[in-house]
Amino acid sequence: MDKILVILTGGTIACGKTNNGLVPLKGKEYFINILKGISDDEFDVKELMSIDSSDMGCAQWNIIGDEICRSKDQYTGIIVCHGTDTMAYTASALSFMLQNINTPVVLTGSQRPACEKDSDGYSNLSLAVKTAKSSISGVYVAFYDKVISGTHCVKTHTLSDNAFESINYPYTAILKSDRLEINYNSLFKSSSVFEYSNISNSRVLLLKLTPDMDTMIFDYIINSKFDGVIIEGFGLGGMSFKFSNTVLGIEKLIKNNIPVILCSQCLYEKSDFKVYESGLLALNTGAIESGIMTTEAVYAKLKWVLTKTHDMQTIRKYFKTNFVGELGN
Ligand code: ASP
Repeated sequence: MDKILVILTGGTIACGKTNNGLVPLKGKEYFINILKGISDDEFDVKELMSIDSSDMGCAQWNIIGDEICRSKDQYTGIIVCHGTDTMAYTASALSFMLQNINTPVVLTGSQRPACEKDSDGYSNLSLAVKTAKSSISGVYVAFYDKVISGTHCVKTHTLSDNAFESINYPYTAILKSDRLEINYNSLFKSSSVFEYSNISNSRVLLLKLTPDMDTMIFDYIINSKFDGVIIEGFGLGGMSFKFSNTVLGIEKLIKNNIPVILCSQCLYEKSDFKVYESGLLALNTGAIESGIMTTEAVYAKLKWVLTKTHDMQTIRKYFKTNFVGELGN
């Protein structure tokens, strides 16, 4: 019989109604009962925290990562019950932190509290159990009827049960007639050994460009000593430079040794800043392209890379390296 570790962190799945709105309230005993109804397998349940995932950050990623690292050899698979709102960030962060882990680590949650009638929590947990018992190792999100690679997952719907999509990457598995159909071709193959690292809380800013953006923001970023900036440009790879000169702003950041990673505001398909003049100018100042990566994965990767180095050339090298399938297969 398989033994699965279920880590509880809070989120809507664990919420109860209070006068202050939905609050994660339901703990270990409650989940032990739900799991008994879902599967005959043996579970250990550990409640590491009980928070809305809006409050997740690198301190919490490290607590979850440490627990997984300590426990991974004792279990067939590990499930992390997590709020959906920032699940994609945590899935990305854990992917980089737990590189080449040979145990399935499966994040799941729900759009409606498990204590509500017809909650999606039960089916999501059941999918997570199937994924945790499967032969796929690495970090995944299991939600609705899909299993998504940790660095390609994005929350795309605020209300629907079908809340997550795999972006620029095939689904790892789909649930069909209650069976998990794994797409083995999609699995990232790495020849390296397991390596665990924490993520330190460097100061990373995500800047979404808008028309007429006030470029004073770049001086603010420099004066506030940010460690790295992610810029979501327009479309395939555009940014303003004729009237509101964001390219000059990027140049100033890089001269101040603040790495700049470029990605697109579009969700699907790659960014390519080499195509348009403004993007090319930005690349020439030393900005780094992120290609097909989701913004969530770029954010987690930049924090993970900044834990290791602040050297601009090494950061560039890290962003060109495909560590966990974040750049494709
Ligand atoms: N606000 C909740 C959270 O992310 C939403 C959810 O879990 O669905 O914790």
